[in-house]
Amino acid sequence: MSLIRHHVDGRETGDAERTGPVFNPATGERAHEVAFASTAEVDAAIAAAKAALPGWRATGLVKRADVFFRLRQLLVERQDDLAAIITSQHGKVLADAKGEISRGIENVEFAAGLVHLLKGEHAEQVARGVDVHSVKQPVGVVGAITPFNFPVMVPLWMISSAIACGNTVVLKPSEKDPSASVFLARLFEEAGLPAGVLNVVHGDKVAVDAILDSPDVKAVSFVGSTPIAKSIYERASAAGKRVQALGGAKNHMVVMPDADLDSAADAAVSAAYGSAGERCMAVSVLVAVGDEVADAIVEKVASRMAKLQIGDGTDASSEMGPLITREHRDKVASYVTGAAAEGATVVVDGTQAEFEGDGFFIGTSLVDHVRPGMKVYEDEIFGPVLSVVRVGTYDEAVELINANRFANGVALFTRDGRTARQFEFDIEVGMVGVNVPIPVPIGAFSFGGWKNSLFGDSHIYGPESIHFYTRSKVVTTRWPDPSESQVNLGFPSNH
Ligand code: NAD
Repeated sequence: MSLIRHHVDGRETGDAERTGPVFNPATGERAHEVAFASTAEVDAAIAAAKAALPGWRATGLVKRADVFFRLRQLLVERQDDLAAIITSQHGKVLADAKGEISRGIENVEFAAGLVHLLKGEHAEQVARGVDVHSVKQPVGVVGAITPFNFPVMVPLWMISSAIACGNTVVLKPSEKDPSASVFLARLFEEAGLPAGVLNVVHGDKVAVDAILDSPDVKAVSFVGSTPIAKSIYERASAAGKRVQALGGAKNHMVVMPDADLDSAADAAVSAAYGSAGERCMAVSVLVAVGDEVADAIVEKVASRMAKLQIGDGTDASSEMGPLITREHRDKVASYVTGAAAEGATVVVDGTQAEFEGDGFFIGTSLVDHVRPGMKVYEDEIFGPVLSVVRVGTYDEAVELINANRFANGVALFTRDGRTARQFEFDIEVGMVGVNVPIPVPIGAFSFGGWKNSLFGDSHIYGPESIHFYTRSKVVTTRWPDPSESQVNLGFPSNH
């Protein structure tokens, strides 16, 4: 069994006193061990990042941009290899893995525009002979901590912009599918990134805490579940760092009576069961406005579910793969079983589906007559379970969603522009889709939810990432003739 090691200062490191298992979720096989970094090993990675900082921040912007242009090309050329790594450790189907890579490439393309992104502002003659300009400088060493569900895209959300801005990085990917991050670090270096600018350490809370507690780490980007996001935000901000910590989600999709119900059913099935529901933007609650809509859409969704192909992600005919671990599969199943006891109607019970072998597979589930207060509604399940909540009016739908503690994404299906416009105005959620079930913004915008889906005030990637990963400095200049010099104890005024 091979050992997956850290990547520090351009080299593989890790004496691996502690390790964790990495499974192939499609077979259940314990395929690798991953080294768990000690505090000393994380400190060594931070030291490498700190040592690389002066050289990287002094590197010309055009030369920095070249790295991203080359990286983009390498990601396109190696996408099959990278997708195979994702599928073997995460389980998602290969087509979905390639989709994730292509969304990550958007962040690399955005970073390649760094010469434009890092331009400051200049005001000439703010007073006679006085000019003011602003510059954006890197914050220093950045800690990046990522979840299992997008082992390529989420690291690229962070490291592309952080590195473009002249920072150096210590990345701690999920210990469940760690190999993609090491692959990315090697690719960055092949593209010309100097050793030490991007370091990868694997591990658990020990490694994360070492990043959070180090005085040499100046900013922390985190994506993962809400309880951990909250604790990361509190610990790192108490240590004086800037932090963005993106958490979990419960994404609603509202179907209005005027919506095209076949399109809405296609969208609901794709967004609820794609990647086995292990997406932070997966639709997990369908809000049907009116019983007529509810009855019709439940039937249409159920009939589409019956045709879904579930199997090993490397098989081209599979549309949905397994869940990440056996424990997670069992937890997801418990929500479906519990829903019936809570008074909901289990229309399709995926826990009864049978699969050959020891993979972490589960069938897709559809649960109707779900209400707030039920566990199946309140918790983020992160599996292929779609709940249906029936409401009477548009206002009730908005009230339901605005009362939820999560606020990552939301979608509205309607053919009426006036309703759509009002929804955009009313809804308290960070990312909104109108007839788009998974409204993940393109790389030129920023991504982030509200409420318990994001702690901090900066969204991730896109323009807000440039703000997050830089400190601005404002410079006031004057080139007076020495003959004009005089002592003046008054406060400088420009009027
Ligand atoms: P997780 O919170 O278990 O782990 C995320 C990271 O935190 C991992 O690197 C993990 O090793 C580390 N970690 C785990 N426990 C820790 C602890 N006690 N102290 C310090 N670090 C710890 O999340 P996950 O299961 O890997 O990912 C799924 C979750 O991520 C879901 O809740 C999903 O909604 C969320 N997610 C959110 C977004 C978003 O953009 N809002 C995107 C992707 C995933």
